Amino acid sequence: MLSIIIPCFNEEASISLFYEDMLKMLTSLNIPIEFIFVDDGSKDNTLNVLHELSNKDERVHYISFSRNFGKEAAMLAGLQKARGKFAVTMDADLQDPPSLIPKMLEIVTSGEYDCAGTRRVNRKGEPLIRSFFARRFYALMKRLTDIEVVDGARDFRLMNRIYLNALLTMQERNRFSKGIFPWLGFKTKWLEYENIERTTGETKWSFWNLLWYSFDGIIAFSSKPLAIASILGILLFLVSISLIVLVVTRKIMLGDPVAGWASTICIILFCSGIQLFSVGILGQYLAKTYTEVKQRPNYLIREEG
Ligand code: UDP
Ligand code: MG
Repeated sequence: MLSIIIPCFNEEASISLFYEDMLKMLTSLNIPIEFIFVDDGSKDNTLNVLHELSNKDERVHYISFSRNFGKEAAMLAGLQKARGKFAVTMDADLQDPPSLIPKMLEIVTSGEYDCAGTRRVNRKGEPLIRSFFARRFYALMKRLTDIEVVDGARDFRLMNRIYLNALLTMQERNRFSKGIFPWLGFKTKWLEYENIERTTGETKWSFWNLLWYSFDGIIAFSSKPLAIASILGILLFLVSISLIVLVVTRKIMLGDPVAGWASTICIILFCSGIQLFSVGILGQYLAKTYTEVKQRPNYLIREEG
């Protein structure tokens, strides 16, 4: 069986379109399937649409969260509920073309690969500034972490049971899929396709959301920022030693300690800036550790069917 997991947040308009398209694709697939829609605390009619669908089609299951927990939590809940030998995660807005599923299934059933991932080769229809920062983010991730975060990789993935079980052992609260998947290893085959714009509704990601998300990703998979803070400290220490030597020799040779209020203030500001920066980085890791230690659940279910 193939489990199809769809996180939905305010997708009342997209779900039926998505379902229709999937049914069309499924006729060409001879494998039993189940749909697992995860209503991530939607404020619109999403849950009612899901009720209707599950009454009409017994292959449709749903989970409804007590509030919005985010897409990562929604995907996790769906994957935990999945009973299939294969599972695929995809968006409700038809940005992940269902027509790729037969090909993905073929790749994974052949046994050569454990996972079929998709990546978009361009960012057509996306604001330029967003594309620019996205590129910078991938470049930065490459330098800061050991894992290979694939540029343009989508959450549209089809995996086998071995891969899925391995994924479910990752119990962390700060879930950053783009890092978790490459961390797992296994054999992934990448399929490429052109970016498709959303059919209805609008994206839930603002620029600032994405920026914070990228910081979270770096912190979740790299401790290099901490090392950078230490190195900055050492560098500044070396600079201060040479300055001290300079000042002392000037006083002995010329009887003239360096004058100037302005230079002192500049140095104080510079150093306290670096200090705050470093403490800030430390704080970010501490905050993440705090949320992990609390062991709160990743999501809470209000209703399931
Ligand atoms: N989504 C979710 N919870 C959220 C935000 C988004 O479950 O808090 C779902 C959303 O319904 C969609 C998918 O995640 O099915 C991708 O969201 P979106 O299309 O807004 O992101 P984009 O495609 O622009 O990256
Ligand atoms: Mg989308």
